[in-house]
Amino acid sequence: MKKSFADKLVCPVDKSELKLQVFATNTDQEIIEGLFTCPTCKRYYPVIYGLPIMSPDEYRQFHLEQPMLEKWGHQISNGTPTPKFLLEDK
Ligand SMILES: [Zn+2]
Repeated sequence: MKKSFADKLVCPVDKSELKLQVFATNTDQEIIEGLFTCPTCKRYYPVIYGLPIMSPDEYRQFHLEQPMLEKWGHQISNGTPTPKFLLEDK
């Protein structure tokens, strides 16, 4: 995913501008792994294999996202019964 494309993305829930942390890029400076966070609703949207994961909560697959996020040192909450995909405050 190109940085210029990432800059255009907004939170699908509330249309807020997202904050992006880039964890890994390829040789073309495209974002391979990263994390978008929404300052309004506190949801996070990971970038995995160059693709931003911005599905509605009910279609998110927590167990697929968790390893990447933990690799980069992020604690994430998996609220029950429905995962909320919120970043925990440090
Ligand atoms: Zn939001």
